[in-house]
Amino acid sequence: MASERLRFAPSPTGYFHVGSARTILFNWLLARRSGGSLLLRIDDTDTERNREEWVDGILRSIEWLGLDWDLGPIRQSSRLQRYAEVAAELETTGHAYWCSCTREEVESRKPEGSPPGYDGFCRDRALGPGAGRALRFRVPEMPVTVFDLVRGEVVFPAGTIDDFIVVKSNGSPLYVLANAVDDADFEISLVVRAEEHLPTTPKAVLLHQALGHAIPRFAHLPVLVNEARQKLSKRRDRVAIEDFRDQGYLPEAMINYLALLGWSPGGDREFMTLDELVAEFSFDRVSHSPAFFDERKLAHFNKHYIQQLSDERFTALAMAFVERANLSLDRKAVGPLLAEVKPRISTLGEFPGMVGFLAADPSYDEADLGKFNQETVKMLNAVAATLGEIELFTPEELESRIRALCDGIGVSLRKLQEPVRLAITGKRVGVPLFSAVAAVGRQTALRRLKAFSSFIGS
Ligand code: GLU
Repeated sequence: MASERLRFAPSPTGYFHVGSARTILFNWLLARRSGGSLLLRIDDTDTERNREEWVDGILRSIEWLGLDWDLGPIRQSSRLQRYAEVAAELETTGHAYWCSCTREEVESRKPEGSPPGYDGFCRDRALGPGAGRALRFRVPEMPVTVFDLVRGEVVFPAGTIDDFIVVKSNGSPLYVLANAVDDADFEISLVVRAEEHLPTTPKAVLLHQALGHAIPRFAHLPVLVNEARQKLSKRRDRVAIEDFRDQGYLPEAMINYLALLGWSPGGDREFMTLDELVAEFSFDRVSHSPAFFDERKLAHFNKHYIQQLSDERFTALAMAFVERANLSLDRKAVGPLLAEVKPRISTLGEFPGMVGFLAADPSYDEADLGKFNQETVKMLNAVAATLGEIELFTPEELESRIRALCDGIGVSLRKLQEPVRLAITGKRVGVPLFSAVAAVGRQTALRRLKAFSSFIGS
């Protein structure tokens, strides 16, 4: 495979979107696989929408994902002079002309129902620069072909692209110009980006042709959709990498899942490490149909990767979440339950909820009252008596003694477990009951059984 020069070019206008994460991942995989390089470019010419904190968010998200880049970051805002130079060149060579039309003027000239776009009014007026004038590219009457590794040759017929603006009347370069100039100056061989950019790609191709650049190849990645097959949107869907990170998703799960959004290794394989992805990734297996970003599937991947964590890393990550939840629990207190919790959670954010009962007596829910009666109270008293007698307060010992108690009083373990679990943890589900009882210790267990009995009796 020939070595590719790639770039990832996010705009710092919001949180780092899962779509952007997939874009950098595919770029990164190809750069590594081809022995090429990846440039990070920050597309920050839109001063109204850009914020420095979003630049920071981009850098931190890339780092969190475990990816990197070889060149940059280059900021488009530092290259305005260069874009102006190229704009002047386009004008000098006759590839661009000054235009004084306002949007309203263009609209008012056009007959009802005509296609959107500029009507070419100023094309041959030979205007010079001036206030309120924009520079437009003179689009030649010919079809434009885009070479796309995902879609093949995409042909835009003659007449479908109107004379587009390259420099606005306020002097700022249009995005399509800045992009083409940068891709050429940094000798980008392959542009990998989201499908939404495909419609502007013929304009980039025209600019490259006019400027005598080598034209890069393109790969437009399929759009990401939600369950209702709507394009993922930051207003409607959860899409920020930062959110997933804060909820306790692991970068390795995220990377593995993102790789499968539009790409597949073939067969039924799902779980792959970054090294395996580098070894196998190629655009032959990238599809152009929309890819469903399925949070449930991501959670399934995360659960798998949580189980792969070493005990040490799991403990460190889990404790960070305990701290964030403001639970006063140290490693020692949580220690006995770590191995029990690990296979039961899909995100690390669920960890504090699973161990919170260790930190404080639970509160009980009135809604549970109807289910229990004096029989339950008797049962809880019997359990308390047994707990009082047990010498070795371990999960194994507790289990064997409580089982014996169930046999003795003719109650199933299942029936007995429910109120005992509620008494000790305040929840219906969680870690195995005997581990929970052992972890809180005898005194606390007895106190909670008593408290729950009085709650039922009240
Ligand atoms: N800055 C553009 C964006 O964030 C990407 C442009 C490109 O990759 O060509 O959507």
